Amino acid sequence: MEKETVKETVSKNFIEQIIEKDLAEGKYEEICTRFPPEPNGYLHIGHAKSILLNYGLAKKYNGKFNLRFDDTNPTKEKTEFVDSIKADVKWLGADWEDRLYFASDYFDQMYEAAIKLIKKGKAFVCDLSPEEIREYRGTLTEPGKESPYRNRSIEENLDLFERMKNGEFPDGSHVLRAKIDMASPNINMRDPIIYRVAHMTHHNTGDKWCIYPMYDFAHPIEDAIEGVTHSICTLEFEDHRPLYDWVVRELEYPHPPKQIEFAKLYLTNVVTGKRYIKKLVEDGTVDGWDDPRLVSIAALRRRGFTPESIQKFVELCGVSKANSSVDYAMLEYCIREDLKMKAPRMMAVLDPVKLVIDNYPEGEIEYLEVPNNMENPELGVRQVPFGRELYIEREDFMEEPVKKYRRLYPGNEVRLMNAYFVTCTSCEKDEEGNITVIHCTYDPASKGGNSPDGRKVKGTIHWVCASTAVKAQCRLYENIVDEEKGVYNKEDGSLNVNPNSLTVVEEAYVEPELGKAGAYDRYQFVRNGFFCGDCHDTKPGAPVFNRIVSLKSSFKLPEK
Ligand code: ATP
Ligand code: MG
Repeated sequence: MEKETVKETVSKNFIEQIIEKDLAEGKYEEICTRFPPEPNGYLHIGHAKSILLNYGLAKKYNGKFNLRFDDTNPTKEKTEFVDSIKADVKWLGADWEDRLYFASDYFDQMYEAAIKLIKKGKAFVCDLSPEEIREYRGTLTEPGKESPYRNRSIEENLDLFERMKNGEFPDGSHVLRAKIDMASPNINMRDPIIYRVAHMTHHNTGDKWCIYPMYDFAHPIEDAIEGVTHSICTLEFEDHRPLYDWVVRELEYPHPPKQIEFAKLYLTNVVTGKRYIKKLVEDGTVDGWDDPRLVSIAALRRRGFTPESIQKFVELCGVSKANSSVDYAMLEYCIREDLKMKAPRMMAVLDPVKLVIDNYPEGEIEYLEVPNNMENPELGVRQVPFGRELYIEREDFMEEPVKKYRRLYPGNEVRLMNAYFVTCTSCEKDEEGNITVIHCTYDPASKGGNSPDGRKVKGTIHWVCASTAVKAQCRLYENIVDEEKGVYNKEDGSLNVNPNSLTVVEEAYVEPELGKAGAYDRYQFVRNGFFCGDCHDTKPGAPVFNRIVSLKSSFKLPEK
């Protein structure tokens, strides 16, 4: 018992330590976290980390988890993304229950908050142009200069701010600024802009507003209104924290939320930038935002990743304050681990060549009982048809075997997985010398693939009965990025695209059971990897499979 407790304490991440301290000190009765996406694009694997981290903490400490659309910026948002984001968050397993919020619903409260600051003498309307504001701001080494409008009276500020709201001023002519400290070493504290004039239509509030709050002012207010206690964001906001604290302090919220930063999740040799993905979609390199070679949540789902595999991945990545990059191979490791026991193991031949068993009765089909997953009896058994003509992988035969080759070659006996021992007798070739048919004989006494007399065979190969086989399309993937060159071209900043990232196998043959595969149905194809029914293209009787991952890898879990 004691040992367990010690281990628990050691493995707590720094955010958990902060939360436990806050709870122990009675700072908050109950915690509340949130995931605050801007509805301006599809979520990617990095967002998954943020979602699962926030949701996981709420679960662990019996708190609440909010999904909040941060839709305060009217230029970029699109309603279509609201739906895709909700679908992705739900799929990942983060349940916001009835706690779905839109930051734009708080515009009235944000306006009131701005008035409060003006009345406290903590905010002023500034008439400097955007260029002048930039000049006055100073640099990292020089302090800023105070705006000539900084000492306007409260009455004048209230009047001007109201007129900003009423649409009396053109865009860019007036802003509301917090009155903090132009000499602060932190540029974010040099009288930051908190409201701007923008005559734009908002997808939620329409034309009601022509002033919009800036992110650094809006975000802490959103958190405070919702009762968020721990506002977890990524490292680039660290320098903004003093402003976050200033806003919640000056607005006198009774239980002010606190901001905590963690390092973003980066994957090595992977494209996440919206701009780049947009280009790949537009030039047809990929077939959409959910192309299985991308790492949007939708793409990973389409490729066949499970929510559990992504949860595991995020867990293995851990939470830290230091930026680092993780290999895609770790994601592959997680899906292999997850599917190993869950997915039925079936036979599919991706590069087929005919194998004829000359001593097997013509026209006869028998059904062999085969376990769906040798390691997991719970998945049951199925009946696999077997007949005189089969398909096997082209690479499982060599007319002239190389050293140590254990599969089929003239004179050699191998096991047809779960079926019989067969001995190769000969092969036929076309004019160009390509093997067209391989001949063999079988030993009826070896049914089930068991040796009848103790004699051993060194090779076992998979197969599919030709007369009952279903033709399938299989898509095999490599990284869309040319790994030798790295993600971006150093000269022009373009992507280094791997020309071989997609191989389409048009004529794979699969056992009849696989002909029924539906969207998102996952299988292990013996020796060929894990595959998933493509959610757009697979149809009953004409299956289309995406390879999620191959079976083997040199990947090793990093030492903790
Ligand atoms: P944008 O460039 O449009 O701001 P974004 O990726 O930051 O893109 P947001 O919608 O602002 O998108 O992000 C929502 C949340 O996801 C934020 O809390 C952000 O910190 C977090 N997040 C974004 N990228 C990552 C990442 N790579 N790793 C972990 N968290 C991330
Ligand atoms: Mg952002």
